[in-house]
Amino acid sequence: MRLLFTPARGCTRLARPLFRPVQSFRGLSLTVPRKEERKWSTPLAKELYKAISATGPVPLATYMRMCLTGDLGGYYTGDIGAKEGDHFGTKGDFITSPEISQCFGEMIGIWLVAEWMSQGRLTSPSHRIQLIEIGPGRGTLMADILRTVHRFPAFASSIDTIYMVEASRELAKRQKNLLCGEAAPLIKTEIGQSSVCKQNSETIVWTDSITAIPNDDKTIPFVVAHEFFDALPIHVFQSVSTPSPPPPTEAPGEAPAAEQQRAKPKVAKQPEPTEWREMLVAPVQPGTTPVNTGAFRSSEPGLPSEFQLVLSSAPTKQSLYMPEASSRYKQLKKVPGSVIEICPDAAFYAGEIARRIGDGREPKGAALILDYGTESTIPINSLRGIREHKFVDPFTLSGLVDLSADVDFMAVTEAALEASEGVEVHGPVCQADFLELMGIKERVAMLVKHIKSDTSASASEKDEKIQNITEAWKRLVDRGPNGMGKLYKALAIIPENDGRRAPVGFGGDLAQAQQRGPTDKN
Ligand code: SAH
Repeated sequence: MRLLFTPARGCTRLARPLFRPVQSFRGLSLTVPRKEERKWSTPLAKELYKAISATGPVPLATYMRMCLTGDLGGYYTGDIGAKEGDHFGTKGDFITSPEISQCFGEMIGIWLVAEWMSQGRLTSPSHRIQLIEIGPGRGTLMADILRTVHRFPAFASSIDTIYMVEASRELAKRQKNLLCGEAAPLIKTEIGQSSVCKQNSETIVWTDSITAIPNDDKTIPFVVAHEFFDALPIHVFQSVSTPSPPPPTEAPGEAPAAEQQRAKPKVAKQPEPTEWREMLVAPVQPGTTPVNTGAFRSSEPGLPSEFQLVLSSAPTKQSLYMPEASSRYKQLKKVPGSVIEICPDAAFYAGEIARRIGDGREPKGAALILDYGTESTIPINSLRGIREHKFVDPFTLSGLVDLSADVDFMAVTEAALEASEGVEVHGPVCQADFLELMGIKERVAMLVKHIKSDTSASASEKDEKIQNITEAWKRLVDRGPNGMGKLYKALAIIPENDGRRAPVGFGGDLAQAQQRGPTDKN
């Protein structure tokens, strides 16, 4: 999820259900009268129209993927340099926790070190830490993590390589500038590009694919993904009833149907059979009203929806297998009109992370996934369009609008546990609980004390700094109905230990973690 930054404060991306299921879609005509060349809001919208005209309506996941990371002007992969700044912060479209407070990344850094301590401080040369961040944005989170973990020399000296999994070339360059300096060259490698961290000379490698990162018995993966899973494309399915064909008509000479009926023992009425159908993206014909009318507002006045979600008239290959893959969807299938969202990419990443931690001779490493989404229910109507700190129509300005959807944390858990017997999953816990257990309040108090003792700053400068730090902290742990502390959640994947040990921040104890080895200086 992204945070929206209203001038005063900013709100979260997750508040508003955007589309309603539609009843049906039959044979939408995709041709547009050729009288006048139709104008599209972006070149990508035109390309999407052409592609859909050729193939028919496409799954929402296809639309999202092209809009977010497609080659032709995707939101992340397009020319973000054309915008002032980038997607993040006041001048961009949304703001994220690491951009709000340095304490966020610091707590994550401490979590990684604590988890490494709990696993017995794997410092031998045959144990090398891979610090992996997926979807690193501006690189701020990694900068805060690195500053923090370097206060624990034994951990820091065990870091072999830092990996940044990033689809955007431009964001990768910005991350490199922040972590390695503008002058540092980006060198082409087998799996992407690399440079050297300016503070600690670690090698940082950028790749667009987690599968390209080396994985063997010596590597210990410590993975962080903040606001990455919500950017992954979703499929949407709706259950529809499929009435059985009417009984055959009477053959000549047979007893009338009514008499036959009387003679038969009474059988309980069977529920109508149902099946999953996929919601597809189709163009809106000029002059017609999109089926999701009223659900979205356009960011730019006069820009109507160019696409709409319609229900497929027949099963698709996705609708036949995706909703059948988990028993969680079974009951809903029986209720016509039920809608579910499924994110196969989230299951893929969760599985890949779990295998890296849990497979091999000795399960080791850990992953922390932070995002917004549902704890146990299946997400529904959660697609959001975000632009310039407002919720907007996701079906116009394709490629210029950020798209995101709620993370289904239970599906992520299921995928991780299914992928590897060597892992266990903890959480999700709400962000406020996680950050408080990690000691964010104490860290803020320490920063405030430091500011107060600064003799070079004026009283008003100090007051302003203290106010900013305090407000930012309170925002991250706000437990109000739309507060970040409540809506954002943290989930941990750690090596399987029969449930004997919970990670710090998830009910585990930092003191316990520290008892497992000699104390690092901090
Ligand atoms: N974690 C950052 C940024 C979140 S925005 C923060 O909290 O500030 C999402 C990030 O994921 C961006 O860096 C975007 O470029 C990246 N991203 C989105 N889809 C991706 C994909 N399929 N593969 C790799 N990176 C992706």
